[in-house]
Amino acid sequence: MKKMTWAGAAAALLLSACAQAPLGSAGASREFVSANEDSRVLFLVIHYTEESWDDSLRVLTHAEPPYGKVSAHYLVREEPAKVYQLVDENRRAWQAGTSYWQGTQNLNSASIGIEIVNPGDKDLKTGQRNGQYQPYAPAQVDAVVALVKDIVARHHIRPDRVIGHEDIAPDRRRDPGPAFPWHRLYEAGVIGWPDPAQVAQRQAGYAAALPDIAWAQQRLAHIGYIVPATGQLDEHTRNVISAFQMKYRNSNYDGQLDAETAALIDVAASEGGMLMKDGKPSVR
Ligand SMILES: [Zn+2]
Repeated sequence: MKKMTWAGAAAALLLSACAQAPLGSAGASREFVSANEDSRVLFLVIHYTEESWDDSLRVLTHAEPPYGKVSAHYLVREEPAKVYQLVDENRRAWQAGTSYWQGTQNLNSASIGIEIVNPGDKDLKTGQRNGQYQPYAPAQVDAVVALVKDIVARHHIRPDRVIGHEDIAPDRRRDPGPAFPWHRLYEAGVIGWPDPAQVAQRQAGYAAALPDIAWAQQRLAHIGYIVPATGQLDEHTRNVISAFQMKYRNSNYDGQLDAETAALIDVAASEGGMLMKDGKPSVR
């Protein structure tokens, strides 16, 4: 019988230990694992870059001035439509900035961010905004929808936590803007939508008598927006209403509380008002 050296025996022992229980971080044994855990990722934030592909990539990947301080986990190119991962999902991307949704502030720590290459309403030659939001390329939207579905499934992100940058920073951002087809995410089963039957019913009532702004502020805050109860249609409240409209009624996002907007807000804030594609209520 061949005599084993001490080093050989130690290596054999180590190998058999490894085979039984893999090692975790810092060489800790993963012999015991807990079932009581979930993802740190609670939110999925969608953005547009307001830049060309070249500039988007430069801004989101370079650390030195004049770039730096912004990134996203994913960047979705328009032509050809392709998804790039810039930041590991376990790391923080610097995408949300000062932000708020459903009681959570500064969402970078608890979110995954997707940047979509789209100019928004910016003329990329002059840098001027003209109010004309450019449509998203169909193949690019398909890629975004597939990516969102994948992330939501892996991290079990709730439908009411798949949001736009404009939802969580309404005074700073109109992003991903009124051209982003949120309804496609509803059709893909990852977000809820205000039940059209309930909306039609309530809209008839609100056409006769509109609720006041305090009523709308309370419900928008319940949905997740940061909205102080000022009772006034101040600039911040208009920005919040506009963000809400861009998602659920993007034909008019003027920030005014009309009958249809009031009905949409009412249903979106009501128990059982938001439906998933399969007809079941979206659970909060
Ligand atoms: Zn953004």
